[in-house]
Amino acid sequence: MAGNFYKVQCQDCENEQVVFGKAATVVNCAVCGTVLARPTGGNATFEGEVTETVEAR
Ligand SMILES: [Zn+2]
Repeated sequence: MAGNFYKVQCQDCENEQVVFGKAATVVNCAVCGTVLARPTGGNATFEGEVTETVEAR
């Protein structure tokens, strides 16, 4: 099963950005640069609020 994508809302500027659930690198907000997700061994840790889950197909 492939990893899901998650829509994460930035805590600083409220930008919503789709992030891969198993991101291998730190994901920054495209607008303000705040860290949205940090890689772990498995699923990434999200720093912002996950507003939606987008299933990969
Ligand atoms: Zn932001």
